[in-house]
Amino acid sequence: MALLIIYTGNGKGKTSAAMGTAFRAVGQGLRVMMVQFIKGSWHYGELDTAKMLGDDRFQMVPMGRGFVKIGAEKPDPQDVELVRQCWEFGKEKMMSGRYELMVFDEINYAINYGMLPPEEVADTLKQRPENVHVILTGRNAHPLLVEMADLVTEMKEIKHPFEKGILAVRGIDY
Ligand code: ATP
Ligand code: MG
Repeated sequence: MALLIIYTGNGKGKTSAAMGTAFRAVGQGLRVMMVQFIKGSWHYGELDTAKMLGDDRFQMVPMGRGFVKIGAEKPDPQDVELVRQCWEFGKEKMMSGRYELMVFDEINYAINYGMLPPEEVADTLKQRPENVHVILTGRNAHPLLVEMADLVTEMKEIKHPFEKGILAVRGIDY
């Protein structure tokens, strides 16, 4: 029974929850592929941890450029292109059935900014091999995907050190 899982909301912990699940899955012999729609410019600790587990067990592929210009009327065509590449890559991996857990990190963000049509994602998810669990992360999960999902958790911010001016902390945020 393969599940569609969504971690969304404004509080911290969405990507961490996906990685925690990946850690558990690897221990159970599942192969995991995580494609990251936004990350790319920074070096995150998890990239090295995934390598320690071995590429055949846990593969993490950052395909973004680290940020997306927001607030503009239309998304930057370069960002749209990166999102497209990331989606096509992840889609192929998911459809191959080689990975029993696929994580599409920050895909909700890409959909929310109009860089990827939610219907296309939904249709592809419906056609995936039946042994493949999928996790989608990012704020503002699309209602269509929330509707389809088996498990949806909304991270709710109660406090974040950012409010006190504490920026990203090594080992906790990256
Ligand atoms: P994490 O990767 O730590 O699990 P996340 O996936 O829930 O966080 P994102 O929306 O992907 O959060 O944001 C990534 C970065 O922004 C993280 O470094 C995180 O600490 C920071 N962040 C997350 N939530 C907040 C918040 N509510 N206020 C300020 N910064 C935040
Ligand atoms: Mg995240």
